[in-house]
Amino acid sequence: RHRVLSGMQPSADSLHLGNYLGALVNWVQVQEDFDAYFFIPDLHAITTPQDPEAVRLRTRNTAAQYIAAGIDPERSTLFVQSQVPEHAQLAWILMCMTGMGEAQRMTQFKDKAARQGAEAAGVGLLAYPMLMAADILLYQPHGVPVGDDQRQHVELTRDLAQRFNARHGETFIVPSGFYPENGARIYDLQNPLAKMSKSAESPNGLINILDDPKVIAKRIKSAVTDDGTEVRFDREAKPGVSNLLSIFAAFTGRTTPELEEAYVGRMYGHLKVDLAEAVVERLAPIRTRALELMDDPAELDRLLSQGALKAREVAGPVLADVYEKVGFQPPS
Ligand code: ATP
Ligand code: MG
Repeated sequence: RHRVLSGMQPSADSLHLGNYLGALVNWVQVQEDFDAYFFIPDLHAITTPQDPEAVRLRTRNTAAQYIAAGIDPERSTLFVQSQVPEHAQLAWILMCMTGMGEAQRMTQFKDKAARQGAEAAGVGLLAYPMLMAADILLYQPHGVPVGDDQRQHVELTRDLAQRFNARHGETFIVPSGFYPENGARIYDLQNPLAKMSKSAESPNGLINILDDPKVIAKRIKSAVTDDGTEVRFDREAKPGVSNLLSIFAAFTGRTTPELEEAYVGRMYGHLKVDLAEAVVERLAPIRTRALELMDDPAELDRLLSQGALKAREVAGPVLADVYEKVGFQPPS
């Protein structure tokens, strides 16, 4: 069975609807057909300053949300990045093979650095994509299921794999991104030009998996809509309504033209009421299960340690091969 790997940062108390529709739903499918590795990139999370207790808590909570959404820790390998030291070790080697200009061109770096102020932004933000490349290449996966926003990072990973292979001989499989078709990119409810993001300045534009259903309904009802009254999918002229329609489509399996048809002569408010109901119905059981799991941190830690051991069985030999090729002594 081909290997597949993916992860999302423990950078907030809860995952949001973009993480769920853009990634998790897809992962649950993926584990049926692939040897799947799902991890919690806590090393990535500290590229912006974090409170240590929050990192610990969010790491467990993220694991709980993966499991609650349907990731089976027996079937898939579920682990925390910092518990598999090979990630940081390979990342260093890849950083030494990346151009400064190449790294500075990454749009996520530009966005996040701008938010922190160019001088205050840490070097970790710049190094982020090389760490991500290490995450991927250590497992030699054919595919990486990620949201559309990670396209540029996956491209860099492919470039680095090819560069390493050219310099040191065939080592890495050059992985492809798997980008989900439906609901690939979800936007902020208050600012539908920006993607929904854990690091958003305000929580008002987010739909979080762990939010109370009442809060979710309220956020959807106060989502920014556009001029006019017609429920129509038009990303340019109606980004707000279009975002609601894509979420609705993803949750119901209906296409956006079908939904437009269903809302002819009805108002934005009707769409919001129906959407809130569909979202809450789907997320409520996931939230309940996640809260149960979060209540038993010892059991979560046990599952994660077991996952790290399984991950190192794959990552260890790959790193050893890389060490040999770049001229290092064997990893200890
Ligand atoms: P951060 O703001 O900390 O970068 P994030 O919300 O962008 O957080 P990530 O941890 O970077 O989340 O990404 C986890 C997964 O969720 C990735 O596969 C990513 O492509 C996907 N994803 C994140 N935001 C969205 C979105 N708005 N729409 C679709 N997919 C998304
Ligand atoms: Mg992100």
